[in-house]
Amino acid sequence: MILVTGGTGYIGSHTCVALMNAGYHVAILDNLCNSRIEVLNRLARLCPVRPDFVEGDVRDPSVLDSVFARYPISAVVHFAGLKAVGDSVKNPLAYYDNNVNGSVQLLRAMQRANVKTFVFSSTATVYAGPFDEALRESDRLGASQPYGHSKLVVEEILADLQSAEPDWRIACLRYFNPVGAHESGLIGESPLGAPNNLMPYLAQVASGMREFLNVWGNDYATPDGTGVRDYLHVMDLAEAHLAALHHLQTVTSLSTKPLTLNLGTGQGYSVLEVVHAFEQASGQKIGRQFAPRRAGDIAQYWADPGLAKQVLGWQAKRGLQEMCADTWRWQLHSAKDGEPS
Ligand code: NAD
Ligand code: UDP
Repeated sequence: MILVTGGTGYIGSHTCVALMNAGYHVAILDNLCNSRIEVLNRLARLCPVRPDFVEGDVRDPSVLDSVFARYPISAVVHFAGLKAVGDSVKNPLAYYDNNVNGSVQLLRAMQRANVKTFVFSSTATVYAGPFDEALRESDRLGASQPYGHSKLVVEEILADLQSAEPDWRIACLRYFNPVGAHESGLIGESPLGAPNNLMPYLAQVASGMREFLNVWGNDYATPDGTGVRDYLHVMDLAEAHLAALHHLQTVTSLSTKPLTLNLGTGQGYSVLEVVHAFEQASGQKIGRQFAPRRAGDIAQYWADPGLAKQVLGWQAKRGLQEMCADTWRWQLHSAKDGEPS
């Protein structure tokens, strides 16, 4: 059985679908600080069985010990954490407590339970730049804000743990820009309040919930002057977790370092390219206006996903059109049914 922390959240719920449809049994631990319990009903419709669920906090050792005592857990996929970069600048302690302390408590509970296979949600924001070429795992690291720093600290903790105890099997997966939703339209991303990220904001403009998109900056040194990112369909991302888990569970030679992989498509798209693709997918005209650059934004970055292909045999299959079409389907379903996650 796989323990998925943060499994009712955006990426966690899609990964549960991939895991359960591949035959894994799943137990979710989530404190529901950024997701809804209704997601479990949706998962039950998308998967052969309903996942087990424990409402609780990864920072709570007694909850963790009871989960490991109750279920035959063989590996942990750890999504639980806080993820809003701007919020992390205002509330750094909440981010270090949730993301760093939460991970340490979880790893200690795993040690007590003798469970040593661990997949960690890291991020492309751990890279320090320069950003003029595809980012590789060996590139310089450094984060300019508490969120990215909290992820980098956990990566370092995992490296120390792996070196001290080589029988651990650890993967750090550095996600680029996850977007989209399950093709059923039953699960997806539901940001609280006004979305910070481009794709959910576009979906709300297309549906009439918001008047127009502010395009933050059109004077970057990119082909059309707007920011470029490596968008990745969340189901491709979910399948990468499945591949990483399978790899960790079957690899025969133990490693002295965590397996660290970029997860992206390797292809960057500008804000205007995404807007056009979303207009095509939704059939809606999207109002936009150029606005000053957003503080802290980088002009462009994209992944070199070659190592994930080499080690896991994984590569993203879904393109920008599918990312937009699935986001739009989810937007229409969630507006109709109420937002489940
Ligand atoms: P999300 O907020 O949708 O999911 C996180 C889940 O964790 C939520 O269900 C929340 O209720 C739960 N949670 C938070 N703190 C918890 C705690 N202390 N104990 C138990 N549950 C807790 O976020 P997401 O987009 O699915 O991201 C999942 C992971 O991937 C996060 O660690 C995030 O930092 C990382 N990540 C996300 C992105 C992205 O763009 N979405 C990019 C890179 C990395
Ligand atoms: N962006 C934008 N308007 C928005 C939200 C985002 O122009 O309302 C731009 C942003 O400046 C960046 C790109 O879209 O160039 C992706 O932003 P997002 O926040 O989705 O991802 P991140 O910047 O965290 O990689």
